[in-house]
Amino acid sequence: MIVVLKAGTPSEEVDRLSGEFDGWGLTPEKITGKHKTVIGLVGDTVDLDALQIQELSPWIEQVLRVEKPFKRASREYRNGEASDVLVSTPEGAVTFSQSAPVVVVAGPCSVKRAMIVETALRVKAAGAKFLRGGAYKPRTSPYAFQGHGESALELLAAARAASGLGIITEVMDAVDLEKIAEVADVVQVGARNMQNFSLLKRVGAQEKPVLLKRGMSATIEEWLMAAEYVLAAGNPNVILCERGIRTFDRQYARNTLDLSVIPVLRSLTHLPIMIDPSHGTGRAEYVPSMALAAIAAGTDSLMIEVHPNPAKALSDGPQSLTPDRFDRLMQELGVIGKAVGRWEPSPALV
Ligand code: PEP
Ligand code: MN
Repeated sequence: MIVVLKAGTPSEEVDRLSGEFDGWGLTPEKITGKHKTVIGLVGDTVDLDALQIQELSPWIEQVLRVEKPFKRASREYRNGEASDVLVSTPEGAVTFSQSAPVVVVAGPCSVKRAMIVETALRVKAAGAKFLRGGAYKPRTSPYAFQGHGESALELLAAARAASGLGIITEVMDAVDLEKIAEVADVVQVGARNMQNFSLLKRVGAQEKPVLLKRGMSATIEEWLMAAEYVLAAGNPNVILCERGIRTFDRQYARNTLDLSVIPVLRSLTHLPIMIDPSHGTGRAEYVPSMALAAIAAGTDSLMIEVHPNPAKALSDGPQSLTPDRFDRLMQELGVIGKAVGRWEPSPALV
């Protein structure tokens, strides 16, 4: 349930009401929006009477029931406002939000010493704000390259220092979370771990923002319930990343990139949206058109795999763009980005 307060409600009144709800065994959560303050009520609210709540204070404007199973992730929970996920990077805070410019995240699938700083500098010059790269890789085969682990985290830290980019990297196992969070500005939970509930609780209990990829066979509701785990554990900063789902045809594309999630999520949740056309298609030649479409459809962010020599990549070479192709893609994206009013010109081009 959410309790919408009138503009100008004194903070003592908000505290008094929160205390009251607390006494009822509920968890009241104060959400300060751009226009209004809302108290979100989590707990057993089925038997609560909206009218009875309304009578608690003349400052209460409206009491609404959130009918969906995901509460904190629902759009209603923030009274219809999108949330801003602010991520600090060496060059200041970057905002992922419906009301901010599109944030581009780029880099290799797996981190390797010989190329990571060079890749970081190239994607930065093209306008990316974050370097992505895996140190711990979820691989279908136990015999496939598993990532360079801790040594790759050091390489990411070096690339961060050299480029000023924020870092996004995946956590597969909670035992690695602390050392990953020391380097990462955003911690990624991959598609294969989307329903690893104990991992979700752990990333929810730490402070770094979380990038939650959609499971390859997950429904939108399952995905939002996974986000709910992170939010319920206390971390409000979750970005949802669509990376393609399994459908009946895998012959020509690795996955089916579900761009329809953009308007659907927009109506269901306040959380920012990222689209990953690299894993979504699995083929470098298909990535640009899907990236352009994602911006036209209103994504808040893009994740693109880039490698200086895709043929030599340790993983996901076939879907990785070269830095030159990424440069051109950023120019192309700028055209659509400007048309939808969501593009910040790259400093190199101003
Ligand atoms: C990745 O981002 O490199 C990755 C493994 O992604 P996903 O979990 O979407 O497969
Ligand atoms: Mn990859």
